[in-house]
Amino acid sequence: MKDTLKQEISRYLDAGFPILYINTFEEEKTEKIICRAADRRTILHWSMAQGYGEYEAKTGEWLVPPGTQLFATSAPEGVTADARSILAQVIKQKLLSPKELARTVLLIKDAHILLEDGAFVASLKELAVRISGGLDCCVILMTPKMSIPVELEKFITILDSDYLSFESICQIIGDFVKDNELPPLPTHLLEEMAVAFKGLTEFEINNILALAVAEDGNLSRRDLQLIFELKRQMILKSGILEMVPGNESIEDIGGLENLKQWLRRKARIIQNIKRAEAYGVDMPKGVLIAGVPGCGKSLCAKAAAKLFEVPLLRLDIGKLMGKYLGESEANLRKAIQLAEAISPCVLWVDELEKAFGGVGSDNRHEVTSRLFGSFLTWMQEKKDATFVVATANDITKLPPELLRKGRFDEIFYVGLPKEEERRNIFRIHIQKRRPKDLPAIDISRLVSQTGGYSGADIEGIVKEGVELAFAEDKAALSTQDILTAIRGTNSLSIIMKDQIDKMEEEFKKRKLKNASL
Ligand code: ATP
Repeated sequence: MKDTLKQEISRYLDAGFPILYINTFEEEKTEKIICRAADRRTILHWSMAQGYGEYEAKTGEWLVPPGTQLFATSAPEGVTADARSILAQVIKQKLLSPKELARTVLLIKDAHILLEDGAFVASLKELAVRISGGLDCCVILMTPKMSIPVELEKFITILDSDYLSFESICQIIGDFVKDNELPPLPTHLLEEMAVAFKGLTEFEINNILALAVAEDGNLSRRDLQLIFELKRQMILKSGILEMVPGNESIEDIGGLENLKQWLRRKARIIQNIKRAEAYGVDMPKGVLIAGVPGCGKSLCAKAAAKLFEVPLLRLDIGKLMGKYLGESEANLRKAIQLAEAISPCVLWVDELEKAFGGVGSDNRHEVTSRLFGSFLTWMQEKKDATFVVATANDITKLPPELLRKGRFDEIFYVGLPKEEERRNIFRIHIQKRRPKDLPAIDISRLVSQTGGYSGADIEGIVKEGVELAFAEDKAALSTQDILTAIRGTNSLSIIMKDQIDKMEEEFKKRKLKNASL
């Protein structure tokens, strides 16, 4: 089982690691954890708001009250009131009598602001060198934003703050209800809310609860919608994942019956996790859907989430790339942790070949390779209900390790829709826009004219046909309108002939499962 943040910090303090870097928005909670992990050490504390102070970790009592003007009378020549230089000077002075630093933790909040200053970074580096040489001290940098200067890279260990457990979230909601003198929530509603809050911080949960109560004076099932919407925004703001609203259902997919059948079977497991585990069923890892563009791969990712009745999180590997060493891996770790905290969920990795395409080739990119390695390990080892739906067009660009058994439960190939599938796709899109006109449309004729068209082509044709009928003030959409739209559209099999032939060949060579019957 994964160590908790407290266990991790204790272990690193005992092992003499010089600088720990904790990326968190929850300062108060993280500081409490640090104090518990620091045991009997003295905390040398610094924050933008309070300035410098010292307190005993065990008791929380201030030995040197925060904001003390340390250099008011005896500041060395050239020291200004600038907070950064004050802290740098404190470090320098303490290094002159290292005994003062023995069994201390230098806890620096708002570290990203300080780390922009060269003099401060230099003093921190000097301290880190001394710690590496045996000084019993540790620097903990706490910041909501990753920014690690090169000079400090080799001294820094990055830690991620814990996400709240389901039980802790229930506790926070319970406390909120009590503090606001609201009537107690029925257990099922409390649990539903706690599931909806998974992945958010205590601060965010309290804010959303306050907003929900401000609207109508109490908490009810109706607030779940608000929770989901605000959670979607908060996840988006975090910049590492996107929560996609799940409007598409499995019935919106025409054809791809094998894949749909397979997803229905997995849905039974995800919806009954505890029972399935007790029965001895392995937790599903996920599916790779590869093939022709515009034939329903993304649609399947969205429909899977709706079918499983879980949130859909989209991971854009390109967005994880950071400019500092280790930043991209830290972002991937954060994204995975957030997905695990929200699980059960579907984690949709779009355009997989773009994310990991360069790995292993001549122009191999180091960061991408490391990210790929972390992703593979996670896929291999993951045990929780984070179901990965990865989509890709060109499977030949993917590194072979990814396609090996054990990563994904299955790899499906999606090709151009066959006759029966095109029939269903036409039905679905006409039904969506002109349900009353559907019975009078000669779908067989449309199907016979659209060999080699993709699902997206067909959707485009229906849209165009409806627009034509509207422009001509017709009372109903007719077969003729859609045939006119077909004549004005080139099929994907013409536009992308070579690529599609190559994909089909590859699919046969690798004996991938066909998503269609
Ligand atoms: P890309 O590789 O370009 O991302 P994709 O395979 O993911 O393409 P989708 O985004 O799923 O394709 O399809 C685009 C649109 O085409 C869908 O939103 C849907 O409206 C329509 N479509 C594609 N395939 C189907 C299908 N099998 N059934 C119904 N609609 C479909």
